[in-house]
Amino acid sequence: MNARIPMVAGNWKMNFDHIEATAFVQKFAWNLKNAHFNFRRCEVALFPSFTSLRSVQVLVQSDKLKIHYGAQAISVTSQGAFTGDVSADMLAALGCSYVIVGHSERRKYHPEDDADIVDQVRAALADGMQPILCVGESFEERRQGIELDFAVGQVRDVTRDLSDEEASRLIVAYEPVWAIGTGMVATPQSAQDAAHAIREDLKATFNDQVAQTVRILYGGSVTSKNAVELIGQEDVDGFLIGGAALHVDELTTICKQV
Ligand code: PGA
Repeated sequence: MNARIPMVAGNWKMNFDHIEATAFVQKFAWNLKNAHFNFRRCEVALFPSFTSLRSVQVLVQSDKLKIHYGAQAISVTSQGAFTGDVSADMLAALGCSYVIVGHSERRKYHPEDDADIVDQVRAALADGMQPILCVGESFEERRQGIELDFAVGQVRDVTRDLSDEEASRLIVAYEPVWAIGTGMVATPQSAQDAAHAIREDLKATFNDQVAQTVRILYGGSVTSKNAVELIGQEDVDGFLIGGAALHVDELTTICKQV
């Protein structure tokens, strides 16, 4: 047992308009209430698209829901002529608690490199939000047997200049790229091995307290069929969920399993 509160984070990616998002949150909140869900035992967070954040905020505030929410991306600049970007200030003003940074889809399609991700982490932290830093190897690195070094290296590259205090506010999501949206899930042992390696490296880079504070989530084809075994691993502190987070009853079941 450790003192970290597990977390279930639902990343909706580019799904749900604000009306669908509202309906989802209402049903989800009802489901959790009905299940007498203990939010002190497990933190729950949703990641809608930018266009739905305000609707989710209004609902969470007006109904005093214990569901947290955050953004899927963040700009590295604070304001100005950056068409299409959304700043940390804007997200913080919407009550976001978290921001996903370094997701493999952002690295691939935009593309964002480590230097961008470092700046995004700093921007989120400066506005009091917790970055969820996504790392994880592709199939090729796994084939070469270098998956642990790869994921650890990604964390190190982004965190090396952070202070202990900043590092302690990070959340890491180990998401092997080959497992994202494919139905292929890492074995519980390999999720544990990666989370453990990342935690050991945080201890070496920062200190034991930072390493014991940072939550390390697993992401990649998590469903209610594999969540129980995965969460049973000592260093796995919860999940970052894509596909299964689009189904409200399935997401509820996973929350109850954690
Ligand atoms: P998935 O996505 O659960 O659909 O595999 C995970 C993620 O991208 O965070």
